[in-house]
Amino acid sequence: MNLFVANWKMNMTRPQARAYALDLGSRIGDEIEGAELVLAPPFTALEAARDPRGRWTLGAQNLSEHHAGAFTGEVSGAMIAEAGCRYVIVGHSERRSLFGEDGPRLSRKLARARESGLVPIYCVGETERERAEGSTAATLARQVETLADDPAAEPLVVAYEPVWAIGTGLAATPSDSASAAAHLRELLSSRAGLRILYGGSVNPGNARDLLTNGGVDGFLVGGASLEAAGFAAIARAG
Ligand code: PEP
Repeated sequence: MNLFVANWKMNMTRPQARAYALDLGSRIGDEIEGAELVLAPPFTALEAARDPRGRWTLGAQNLSEHHAGAFTGEVSGAMIAEAGCRYVIVGHSERRSLFGEDGPRLSRKLARARESGLVPIYCVGETERERAEGSTAATLARQVETLADDPAAEPLVVAYEPVWAIGTGLAATPSDSASAAAHLRELLSSRAGLRILYGGSVNPGNARDLLTNGGVDGFLVGGASLEAAGFAAIARAG
């Protein structure tokens, strides 16, 4: 089943999240066949974004590398799981570039996610410069090394998100996506429960082509997921 994850980033108050959930629910009816939907709101809007009918699940956008204690402002994996999340995004390029999250820290975050029973959505992707230098494959291989200690038998979602495509309106071509996804599947061939998503300027207009020809099992969607109509249209692309 294809997986569609809405990453709201730092958007949506609780009333806005409630309105979105009602809107999304009315658009999808009982369910969207062949699609698993996840909303990843800010922590404060998790409860407001929940679907009492269970047509989508919740994900967090980040988690602490620590278990508990004197870490002001942090939120632990256990807290996220208890708040009803099934998934957690780990290593989004904004966390890597704006908050200095490197491989060792992300590896600790992955461990905390697993201890709490959360499924990580681990993000990888090359910068524009790496792409221009022809080092996309090497970048993905390096970023995948962070998964070395993550248990191979557990379900895992890897999101291929080229940094140059995030929030720019310039999505990767289906052929770019397919070649990155094939490389990731080869690097992670020991992982039975692997799903690969594409993320980066997905919208209702390019979703079908990317899903059909991009070699992926769904999308991580930022900007276009901020309207329930857009997210529902993307989720129907399969
Ligand atoms: C993202 O930030 O995960 C993302 C894919 O953003 P956008 O869809 O806005 O490019």
